[in-house]
Amino acid sequence: MHNHAAHDYHCPFCLLVQGIKNACVESVYSDIVCQSEEVTAVVSSHQWPRNPGNVLIIPNQHYENIYDLPPHLAADIQEAAQIIAIAMKEVYGCDGVSTRQHNEPAGSQDVWHYHLHVTPRYQGDRFYETVTTERALMPPEKRAWHAQRLSKALGSSTCQAVSSSVVQPPAK
Ligand SMILES: [Zn+2]
Repeated sequence: MHNHAAHDYHCPFCLLVQGIKNACVESVYSDIVCQSEEVTAVVSSHQWPRNPGNVLIIPNQHYENIYDLPPHLAADIQEAAQIIAIAMKEVYGCDGVSTRQHNEPAGSQDVWHYHLHVTPRYQGDRFYETVTTERALMPPEKRAWHAQRLSKALGSSTCQAVSSSVVQPPAK
């Protein structure tokens, strides 16, 4: 409903979940923090300068936006966001955590696959004054470092570290 993806859209999050490498996709397998049968938590390829470690929670199946997302998946996504937020408190010692989610171009959506941002926050970080152009690509090695640290801090939950996940690393 109210979809904006082109018919030949190469969805970067579907490709990531399926372990398919594609030149137009920045996200890679080592960005994944944890995964269940329904959802994946991944360190985002682009990061805000004062809030490194931003994680995206995505459904493993393709749904473009909040209008399409089945409510039971919204519950799974919220559960994953909760365990990531708790892991962020432990790993980063952040003062707070924010979540936000965007729909359609006017709602600042830029990837046509539903994703919920989970962001570590700090006193006086002026996060909501940060403009999109300040976001920068974080090198894959740095993203993997964040993913591994967060993954180690996960408590028991349905969203498991990738070592026990349903997908395997893509063949090199
Ligand atoms: Zn997709």
